[in-house]
Amino acid sequence: MSLRILVVGGSIGGLFAAVLLARAGFDVTVTERSEHWLEGRGAGLVAQREVFAMLREAGIEHVARVGVTAYERIHLDRQGTIIRREHMPQTQLSWDVLFRTFRDLVPDARYRIKAKAVMVQSDGSGARVRYADGHEETADLIVGADGIGSVVRETVTGAGVGPRYVGYATWRGLVPETEMPASAAHQLFDRFAFHDGPGSHILGYLVPGANGATEPGRRRYNWVWYRPYAIADLDRILVDTGGVKRPFSLAPGHVRPEIARLVRTQAAELLPASFAAAVAAEPRPFIHAIFDHAPPRMVSARVALLGDAAFVARPHTAMGVAKAAGDAFALRDALLAHRDIGAALAAYQAERVPAGQAIVAYGQRLGRGLDLAGS
Ligand SMILES: Cc1cc2nc3c(=O)[nH]c(=O)nc-3n(C[C@H](O)[C@H](O)[C@H](O)COP(=O)(O)OP(=O)(O)OC[C@H]3O[C@@H](n4cnc5c(N)ncnc54)[C@H](O)[C@@H]3O)c2cc1C
Repeated sequence: MSLRILVVGGSIGGLFAAVLLARAGFDVTVTERSEHWLEGRGAGLVAQREVFAMLREAGIEHVARVGVTAYERIHLDRQGTIIRREHMPQTQLSWDVLFRTFRDLVPDARYRIKAKAVMVQSDGSGARVRYADGHEETADLIVGADGIGSVVRETVTGAGVGPRYVGYATWRGLVPETEMPASAAHQLFDRFAFHDGPGSHILGYLVPGANGATEPGRRRYNWVWYRPYAIADLDRILVDTGGVKRPFSLAPGHVRPEIARLVRTQAAELLPASFAAAVAAEPRPFIHAIFDHAPPRMVSARVALLGDAAFVARPHTAMGVAKAAGDAFALRDALLAHRDIGAALAAYQAERVPAGQAIVAYGQRLGRGLDLAGS
């Protein structure tokens, strides 16, 4: 009899796992809490080896051709002068296209939305998940692919063990390229641009437009501005427009207007004119606080964690999607290699804990190279 596997979380990591495990002959269902959850998500993605391997495996290599290429890296000083140039072409793939293509590989009947897991329990014979509507479901194996705020994690690592705030956050904007002022576009487009100052690190690059459009005129300018915040200040910033304090991030449109105004004012004070213009051109900046999470375990009984539910690495690594792909391959291979689920999960953990820890440590090293307090 084929193993019944429930994947909790239907973003990139959950979809990678669902596609590989279903193709390996397992009985797989994905449950995802959101309904309109693509909104504001899709930007660019620097693909790494594991992502290309995943595209090949799924037979959708064309996704790797939907991208926008930056031909060089430039570093600006505060006056906007280019102080360093490196010939380093890099292509940003479309997150939206990657997501949609993988989503289309999972039958609708196997991808349930509006299913928010609130509790998971597991023993040696199976696992059970309870959803917010009170409904419960059992499976031979539950895969926790529910991201940084994972509910599934608690069954593996115990209560109170979770991501650690590293002392800084990223403000981000995704500006339609036609809305960028001409002088800023002239300096920033078709390049990866950087500026470092005390307590400030910003980078920006063009990414595909919504739905993966890559023609000039339909792309978006993605800027990412790292700023240090004490926990008390971060707690105030992460209160959304409805007055609710969020733990990790605020999506576009959820940052209070007075905070968004302050970000624009500080950009004008601290950044070269081109970057300040890019920040000013974004009416709905959004924020992610940055966390590290590198636990010693990613499985217990009949539960396996994957992607950001397992390890959280800083975005400097640009490896979150590659890490999720590596996890999905390793989990599939371990389940195929071992008839006993416990042995398979032990093999999965033995392979992926060192990989996850190494990626988190790499992000920490990159963070220490920046002038951001607390890193
Ligand atoms: C600023 C920033 C920039 C980044 N840039 C890059 C980059 O360039 N390249 C890269 O590879 N990575 C990047 N990343 C990281 C990348 O976004 C993640 O590592 C990657 O998406 C991991 O995917 P995931 O599926 O594990 O988790 P997520 O994408 O977080 O997905 C979790 C899913 O689970 C669902 N969910 C959550 N809780 C529940 C629940 N209780 N019940 C049911 N469903 C639930 C969520 O709705 C979501 O769909 C970046 C991250 C940040 C913060």
